[in-house]
Amino acid sequence: MSAATTRSRTQRTPRTPDRLCAEAVGFARAAAEEAAAPGVVGEHVEVVVEGDRVVTHLFECKELGYRGWRWAVTVARASRAKVVTLDETVLLPGPDALLAPEWVPWSERLRPGDMGPGDLLPTDAEDLRLEPGYSGEDAPPPNSVLSQELAERVEAEDAELAAADAAPAADAVPARGSLAALAEELGMRRARVLSRYGLHTSADRWDEGYGAKTPMAQAAPASCVSCGFLVPIGGSLGQAFGVCANEFGPADGHVVSLAYGCGGHSEAAVMPKPPRPAPPVLDETKVDELPLRPAPDSGSVKAADTDPDEDLGHS
Ligand code: SF4
Repeated sequence: MSAATTRSRTQRTPRTPDRLCAEAVGFARAAAEEAAAPGVVGEHVEVVVEGDRVVTHLFECKELGYRGWRWAVTVARASRAKVVTLDETVLLPGPDALLAPEWVPWSERLRPGDMGPGDLLPTDAEDLRLEPGYSGEDAPPPNSVLSQELAERVEAEDAELAAADAAPAADAVPARGSLAALAEELGMRRARVLSRYGLHTSADRWDEGYGAKTPMAQAAPASCVSCGFLVPIGGSLGQAFGVCANEFGPADGHVVSLAYGCGGHSEAAVMPKPPRPAPPVLDETKVDELPLRPAPDSGSVKAADTDPDEDLGHS
């Protein structure tokens, strides 16, 4: 019999369980109860055929915290034997088991905002987001006249300076006249700068947080490009982004897309003026009598109101 035939026969899983193994439910339960705490082995759930004369009995696990898990007891019987023996007992998750989230290696676990004070985050030498600060492509060829001339001049100057003063950190200072020295003088010397890929990913990320498609921008009366609170930034990203400096805005201190916007736009809303009372109305067609003294009592008023001529006529 060939090895392949033997392997295929040993790997074949029968459809019907071995009768003696399938009937050994009590034996399997006793094994499960021995492994588990008393009273946590529940109802018999099912029988799973593992191979010839090998089956696994599954029992509910009633332990709190293991909802959906099942005690699996595998039993087996030797060929032509009448005795069922125990293989193993183990607690396994069922289809509805409550499981812990999938484990993530530490190197992939870092998320934005995870860094705290004092933490160091090493950057890979092959980090795609970065590229060398200068490539040297524009340097004069080593055999060019210019290069030779410069080298001689620099050499002479260096010799003079070296005699004048010692340079304790000479290894950290770039050679005079080199591209690195020139870049440092201009404030541009960095070992690595953002690569095209780094620029694109940064722009995508910023646009996602403070871009034209955000609900805030959709409801804004105008965009940041015309806002007085926008601080422009340099570099190629300055063509599409700036920094918001409105302390009451939702993006104060953040890089915002020029197409972003919010209700705090400097020109979008006009401050309402406080209501002014109406000017007083002067009616010059009517004379209002103002009593100089307080009115006498009501009886005297009636007498005063009576026409004196009438009174005389009656008498
Ligand atoms: S206040 Fe609003 S509109 Fe103005 S720059 Fe900031 S986010 Fe843009």
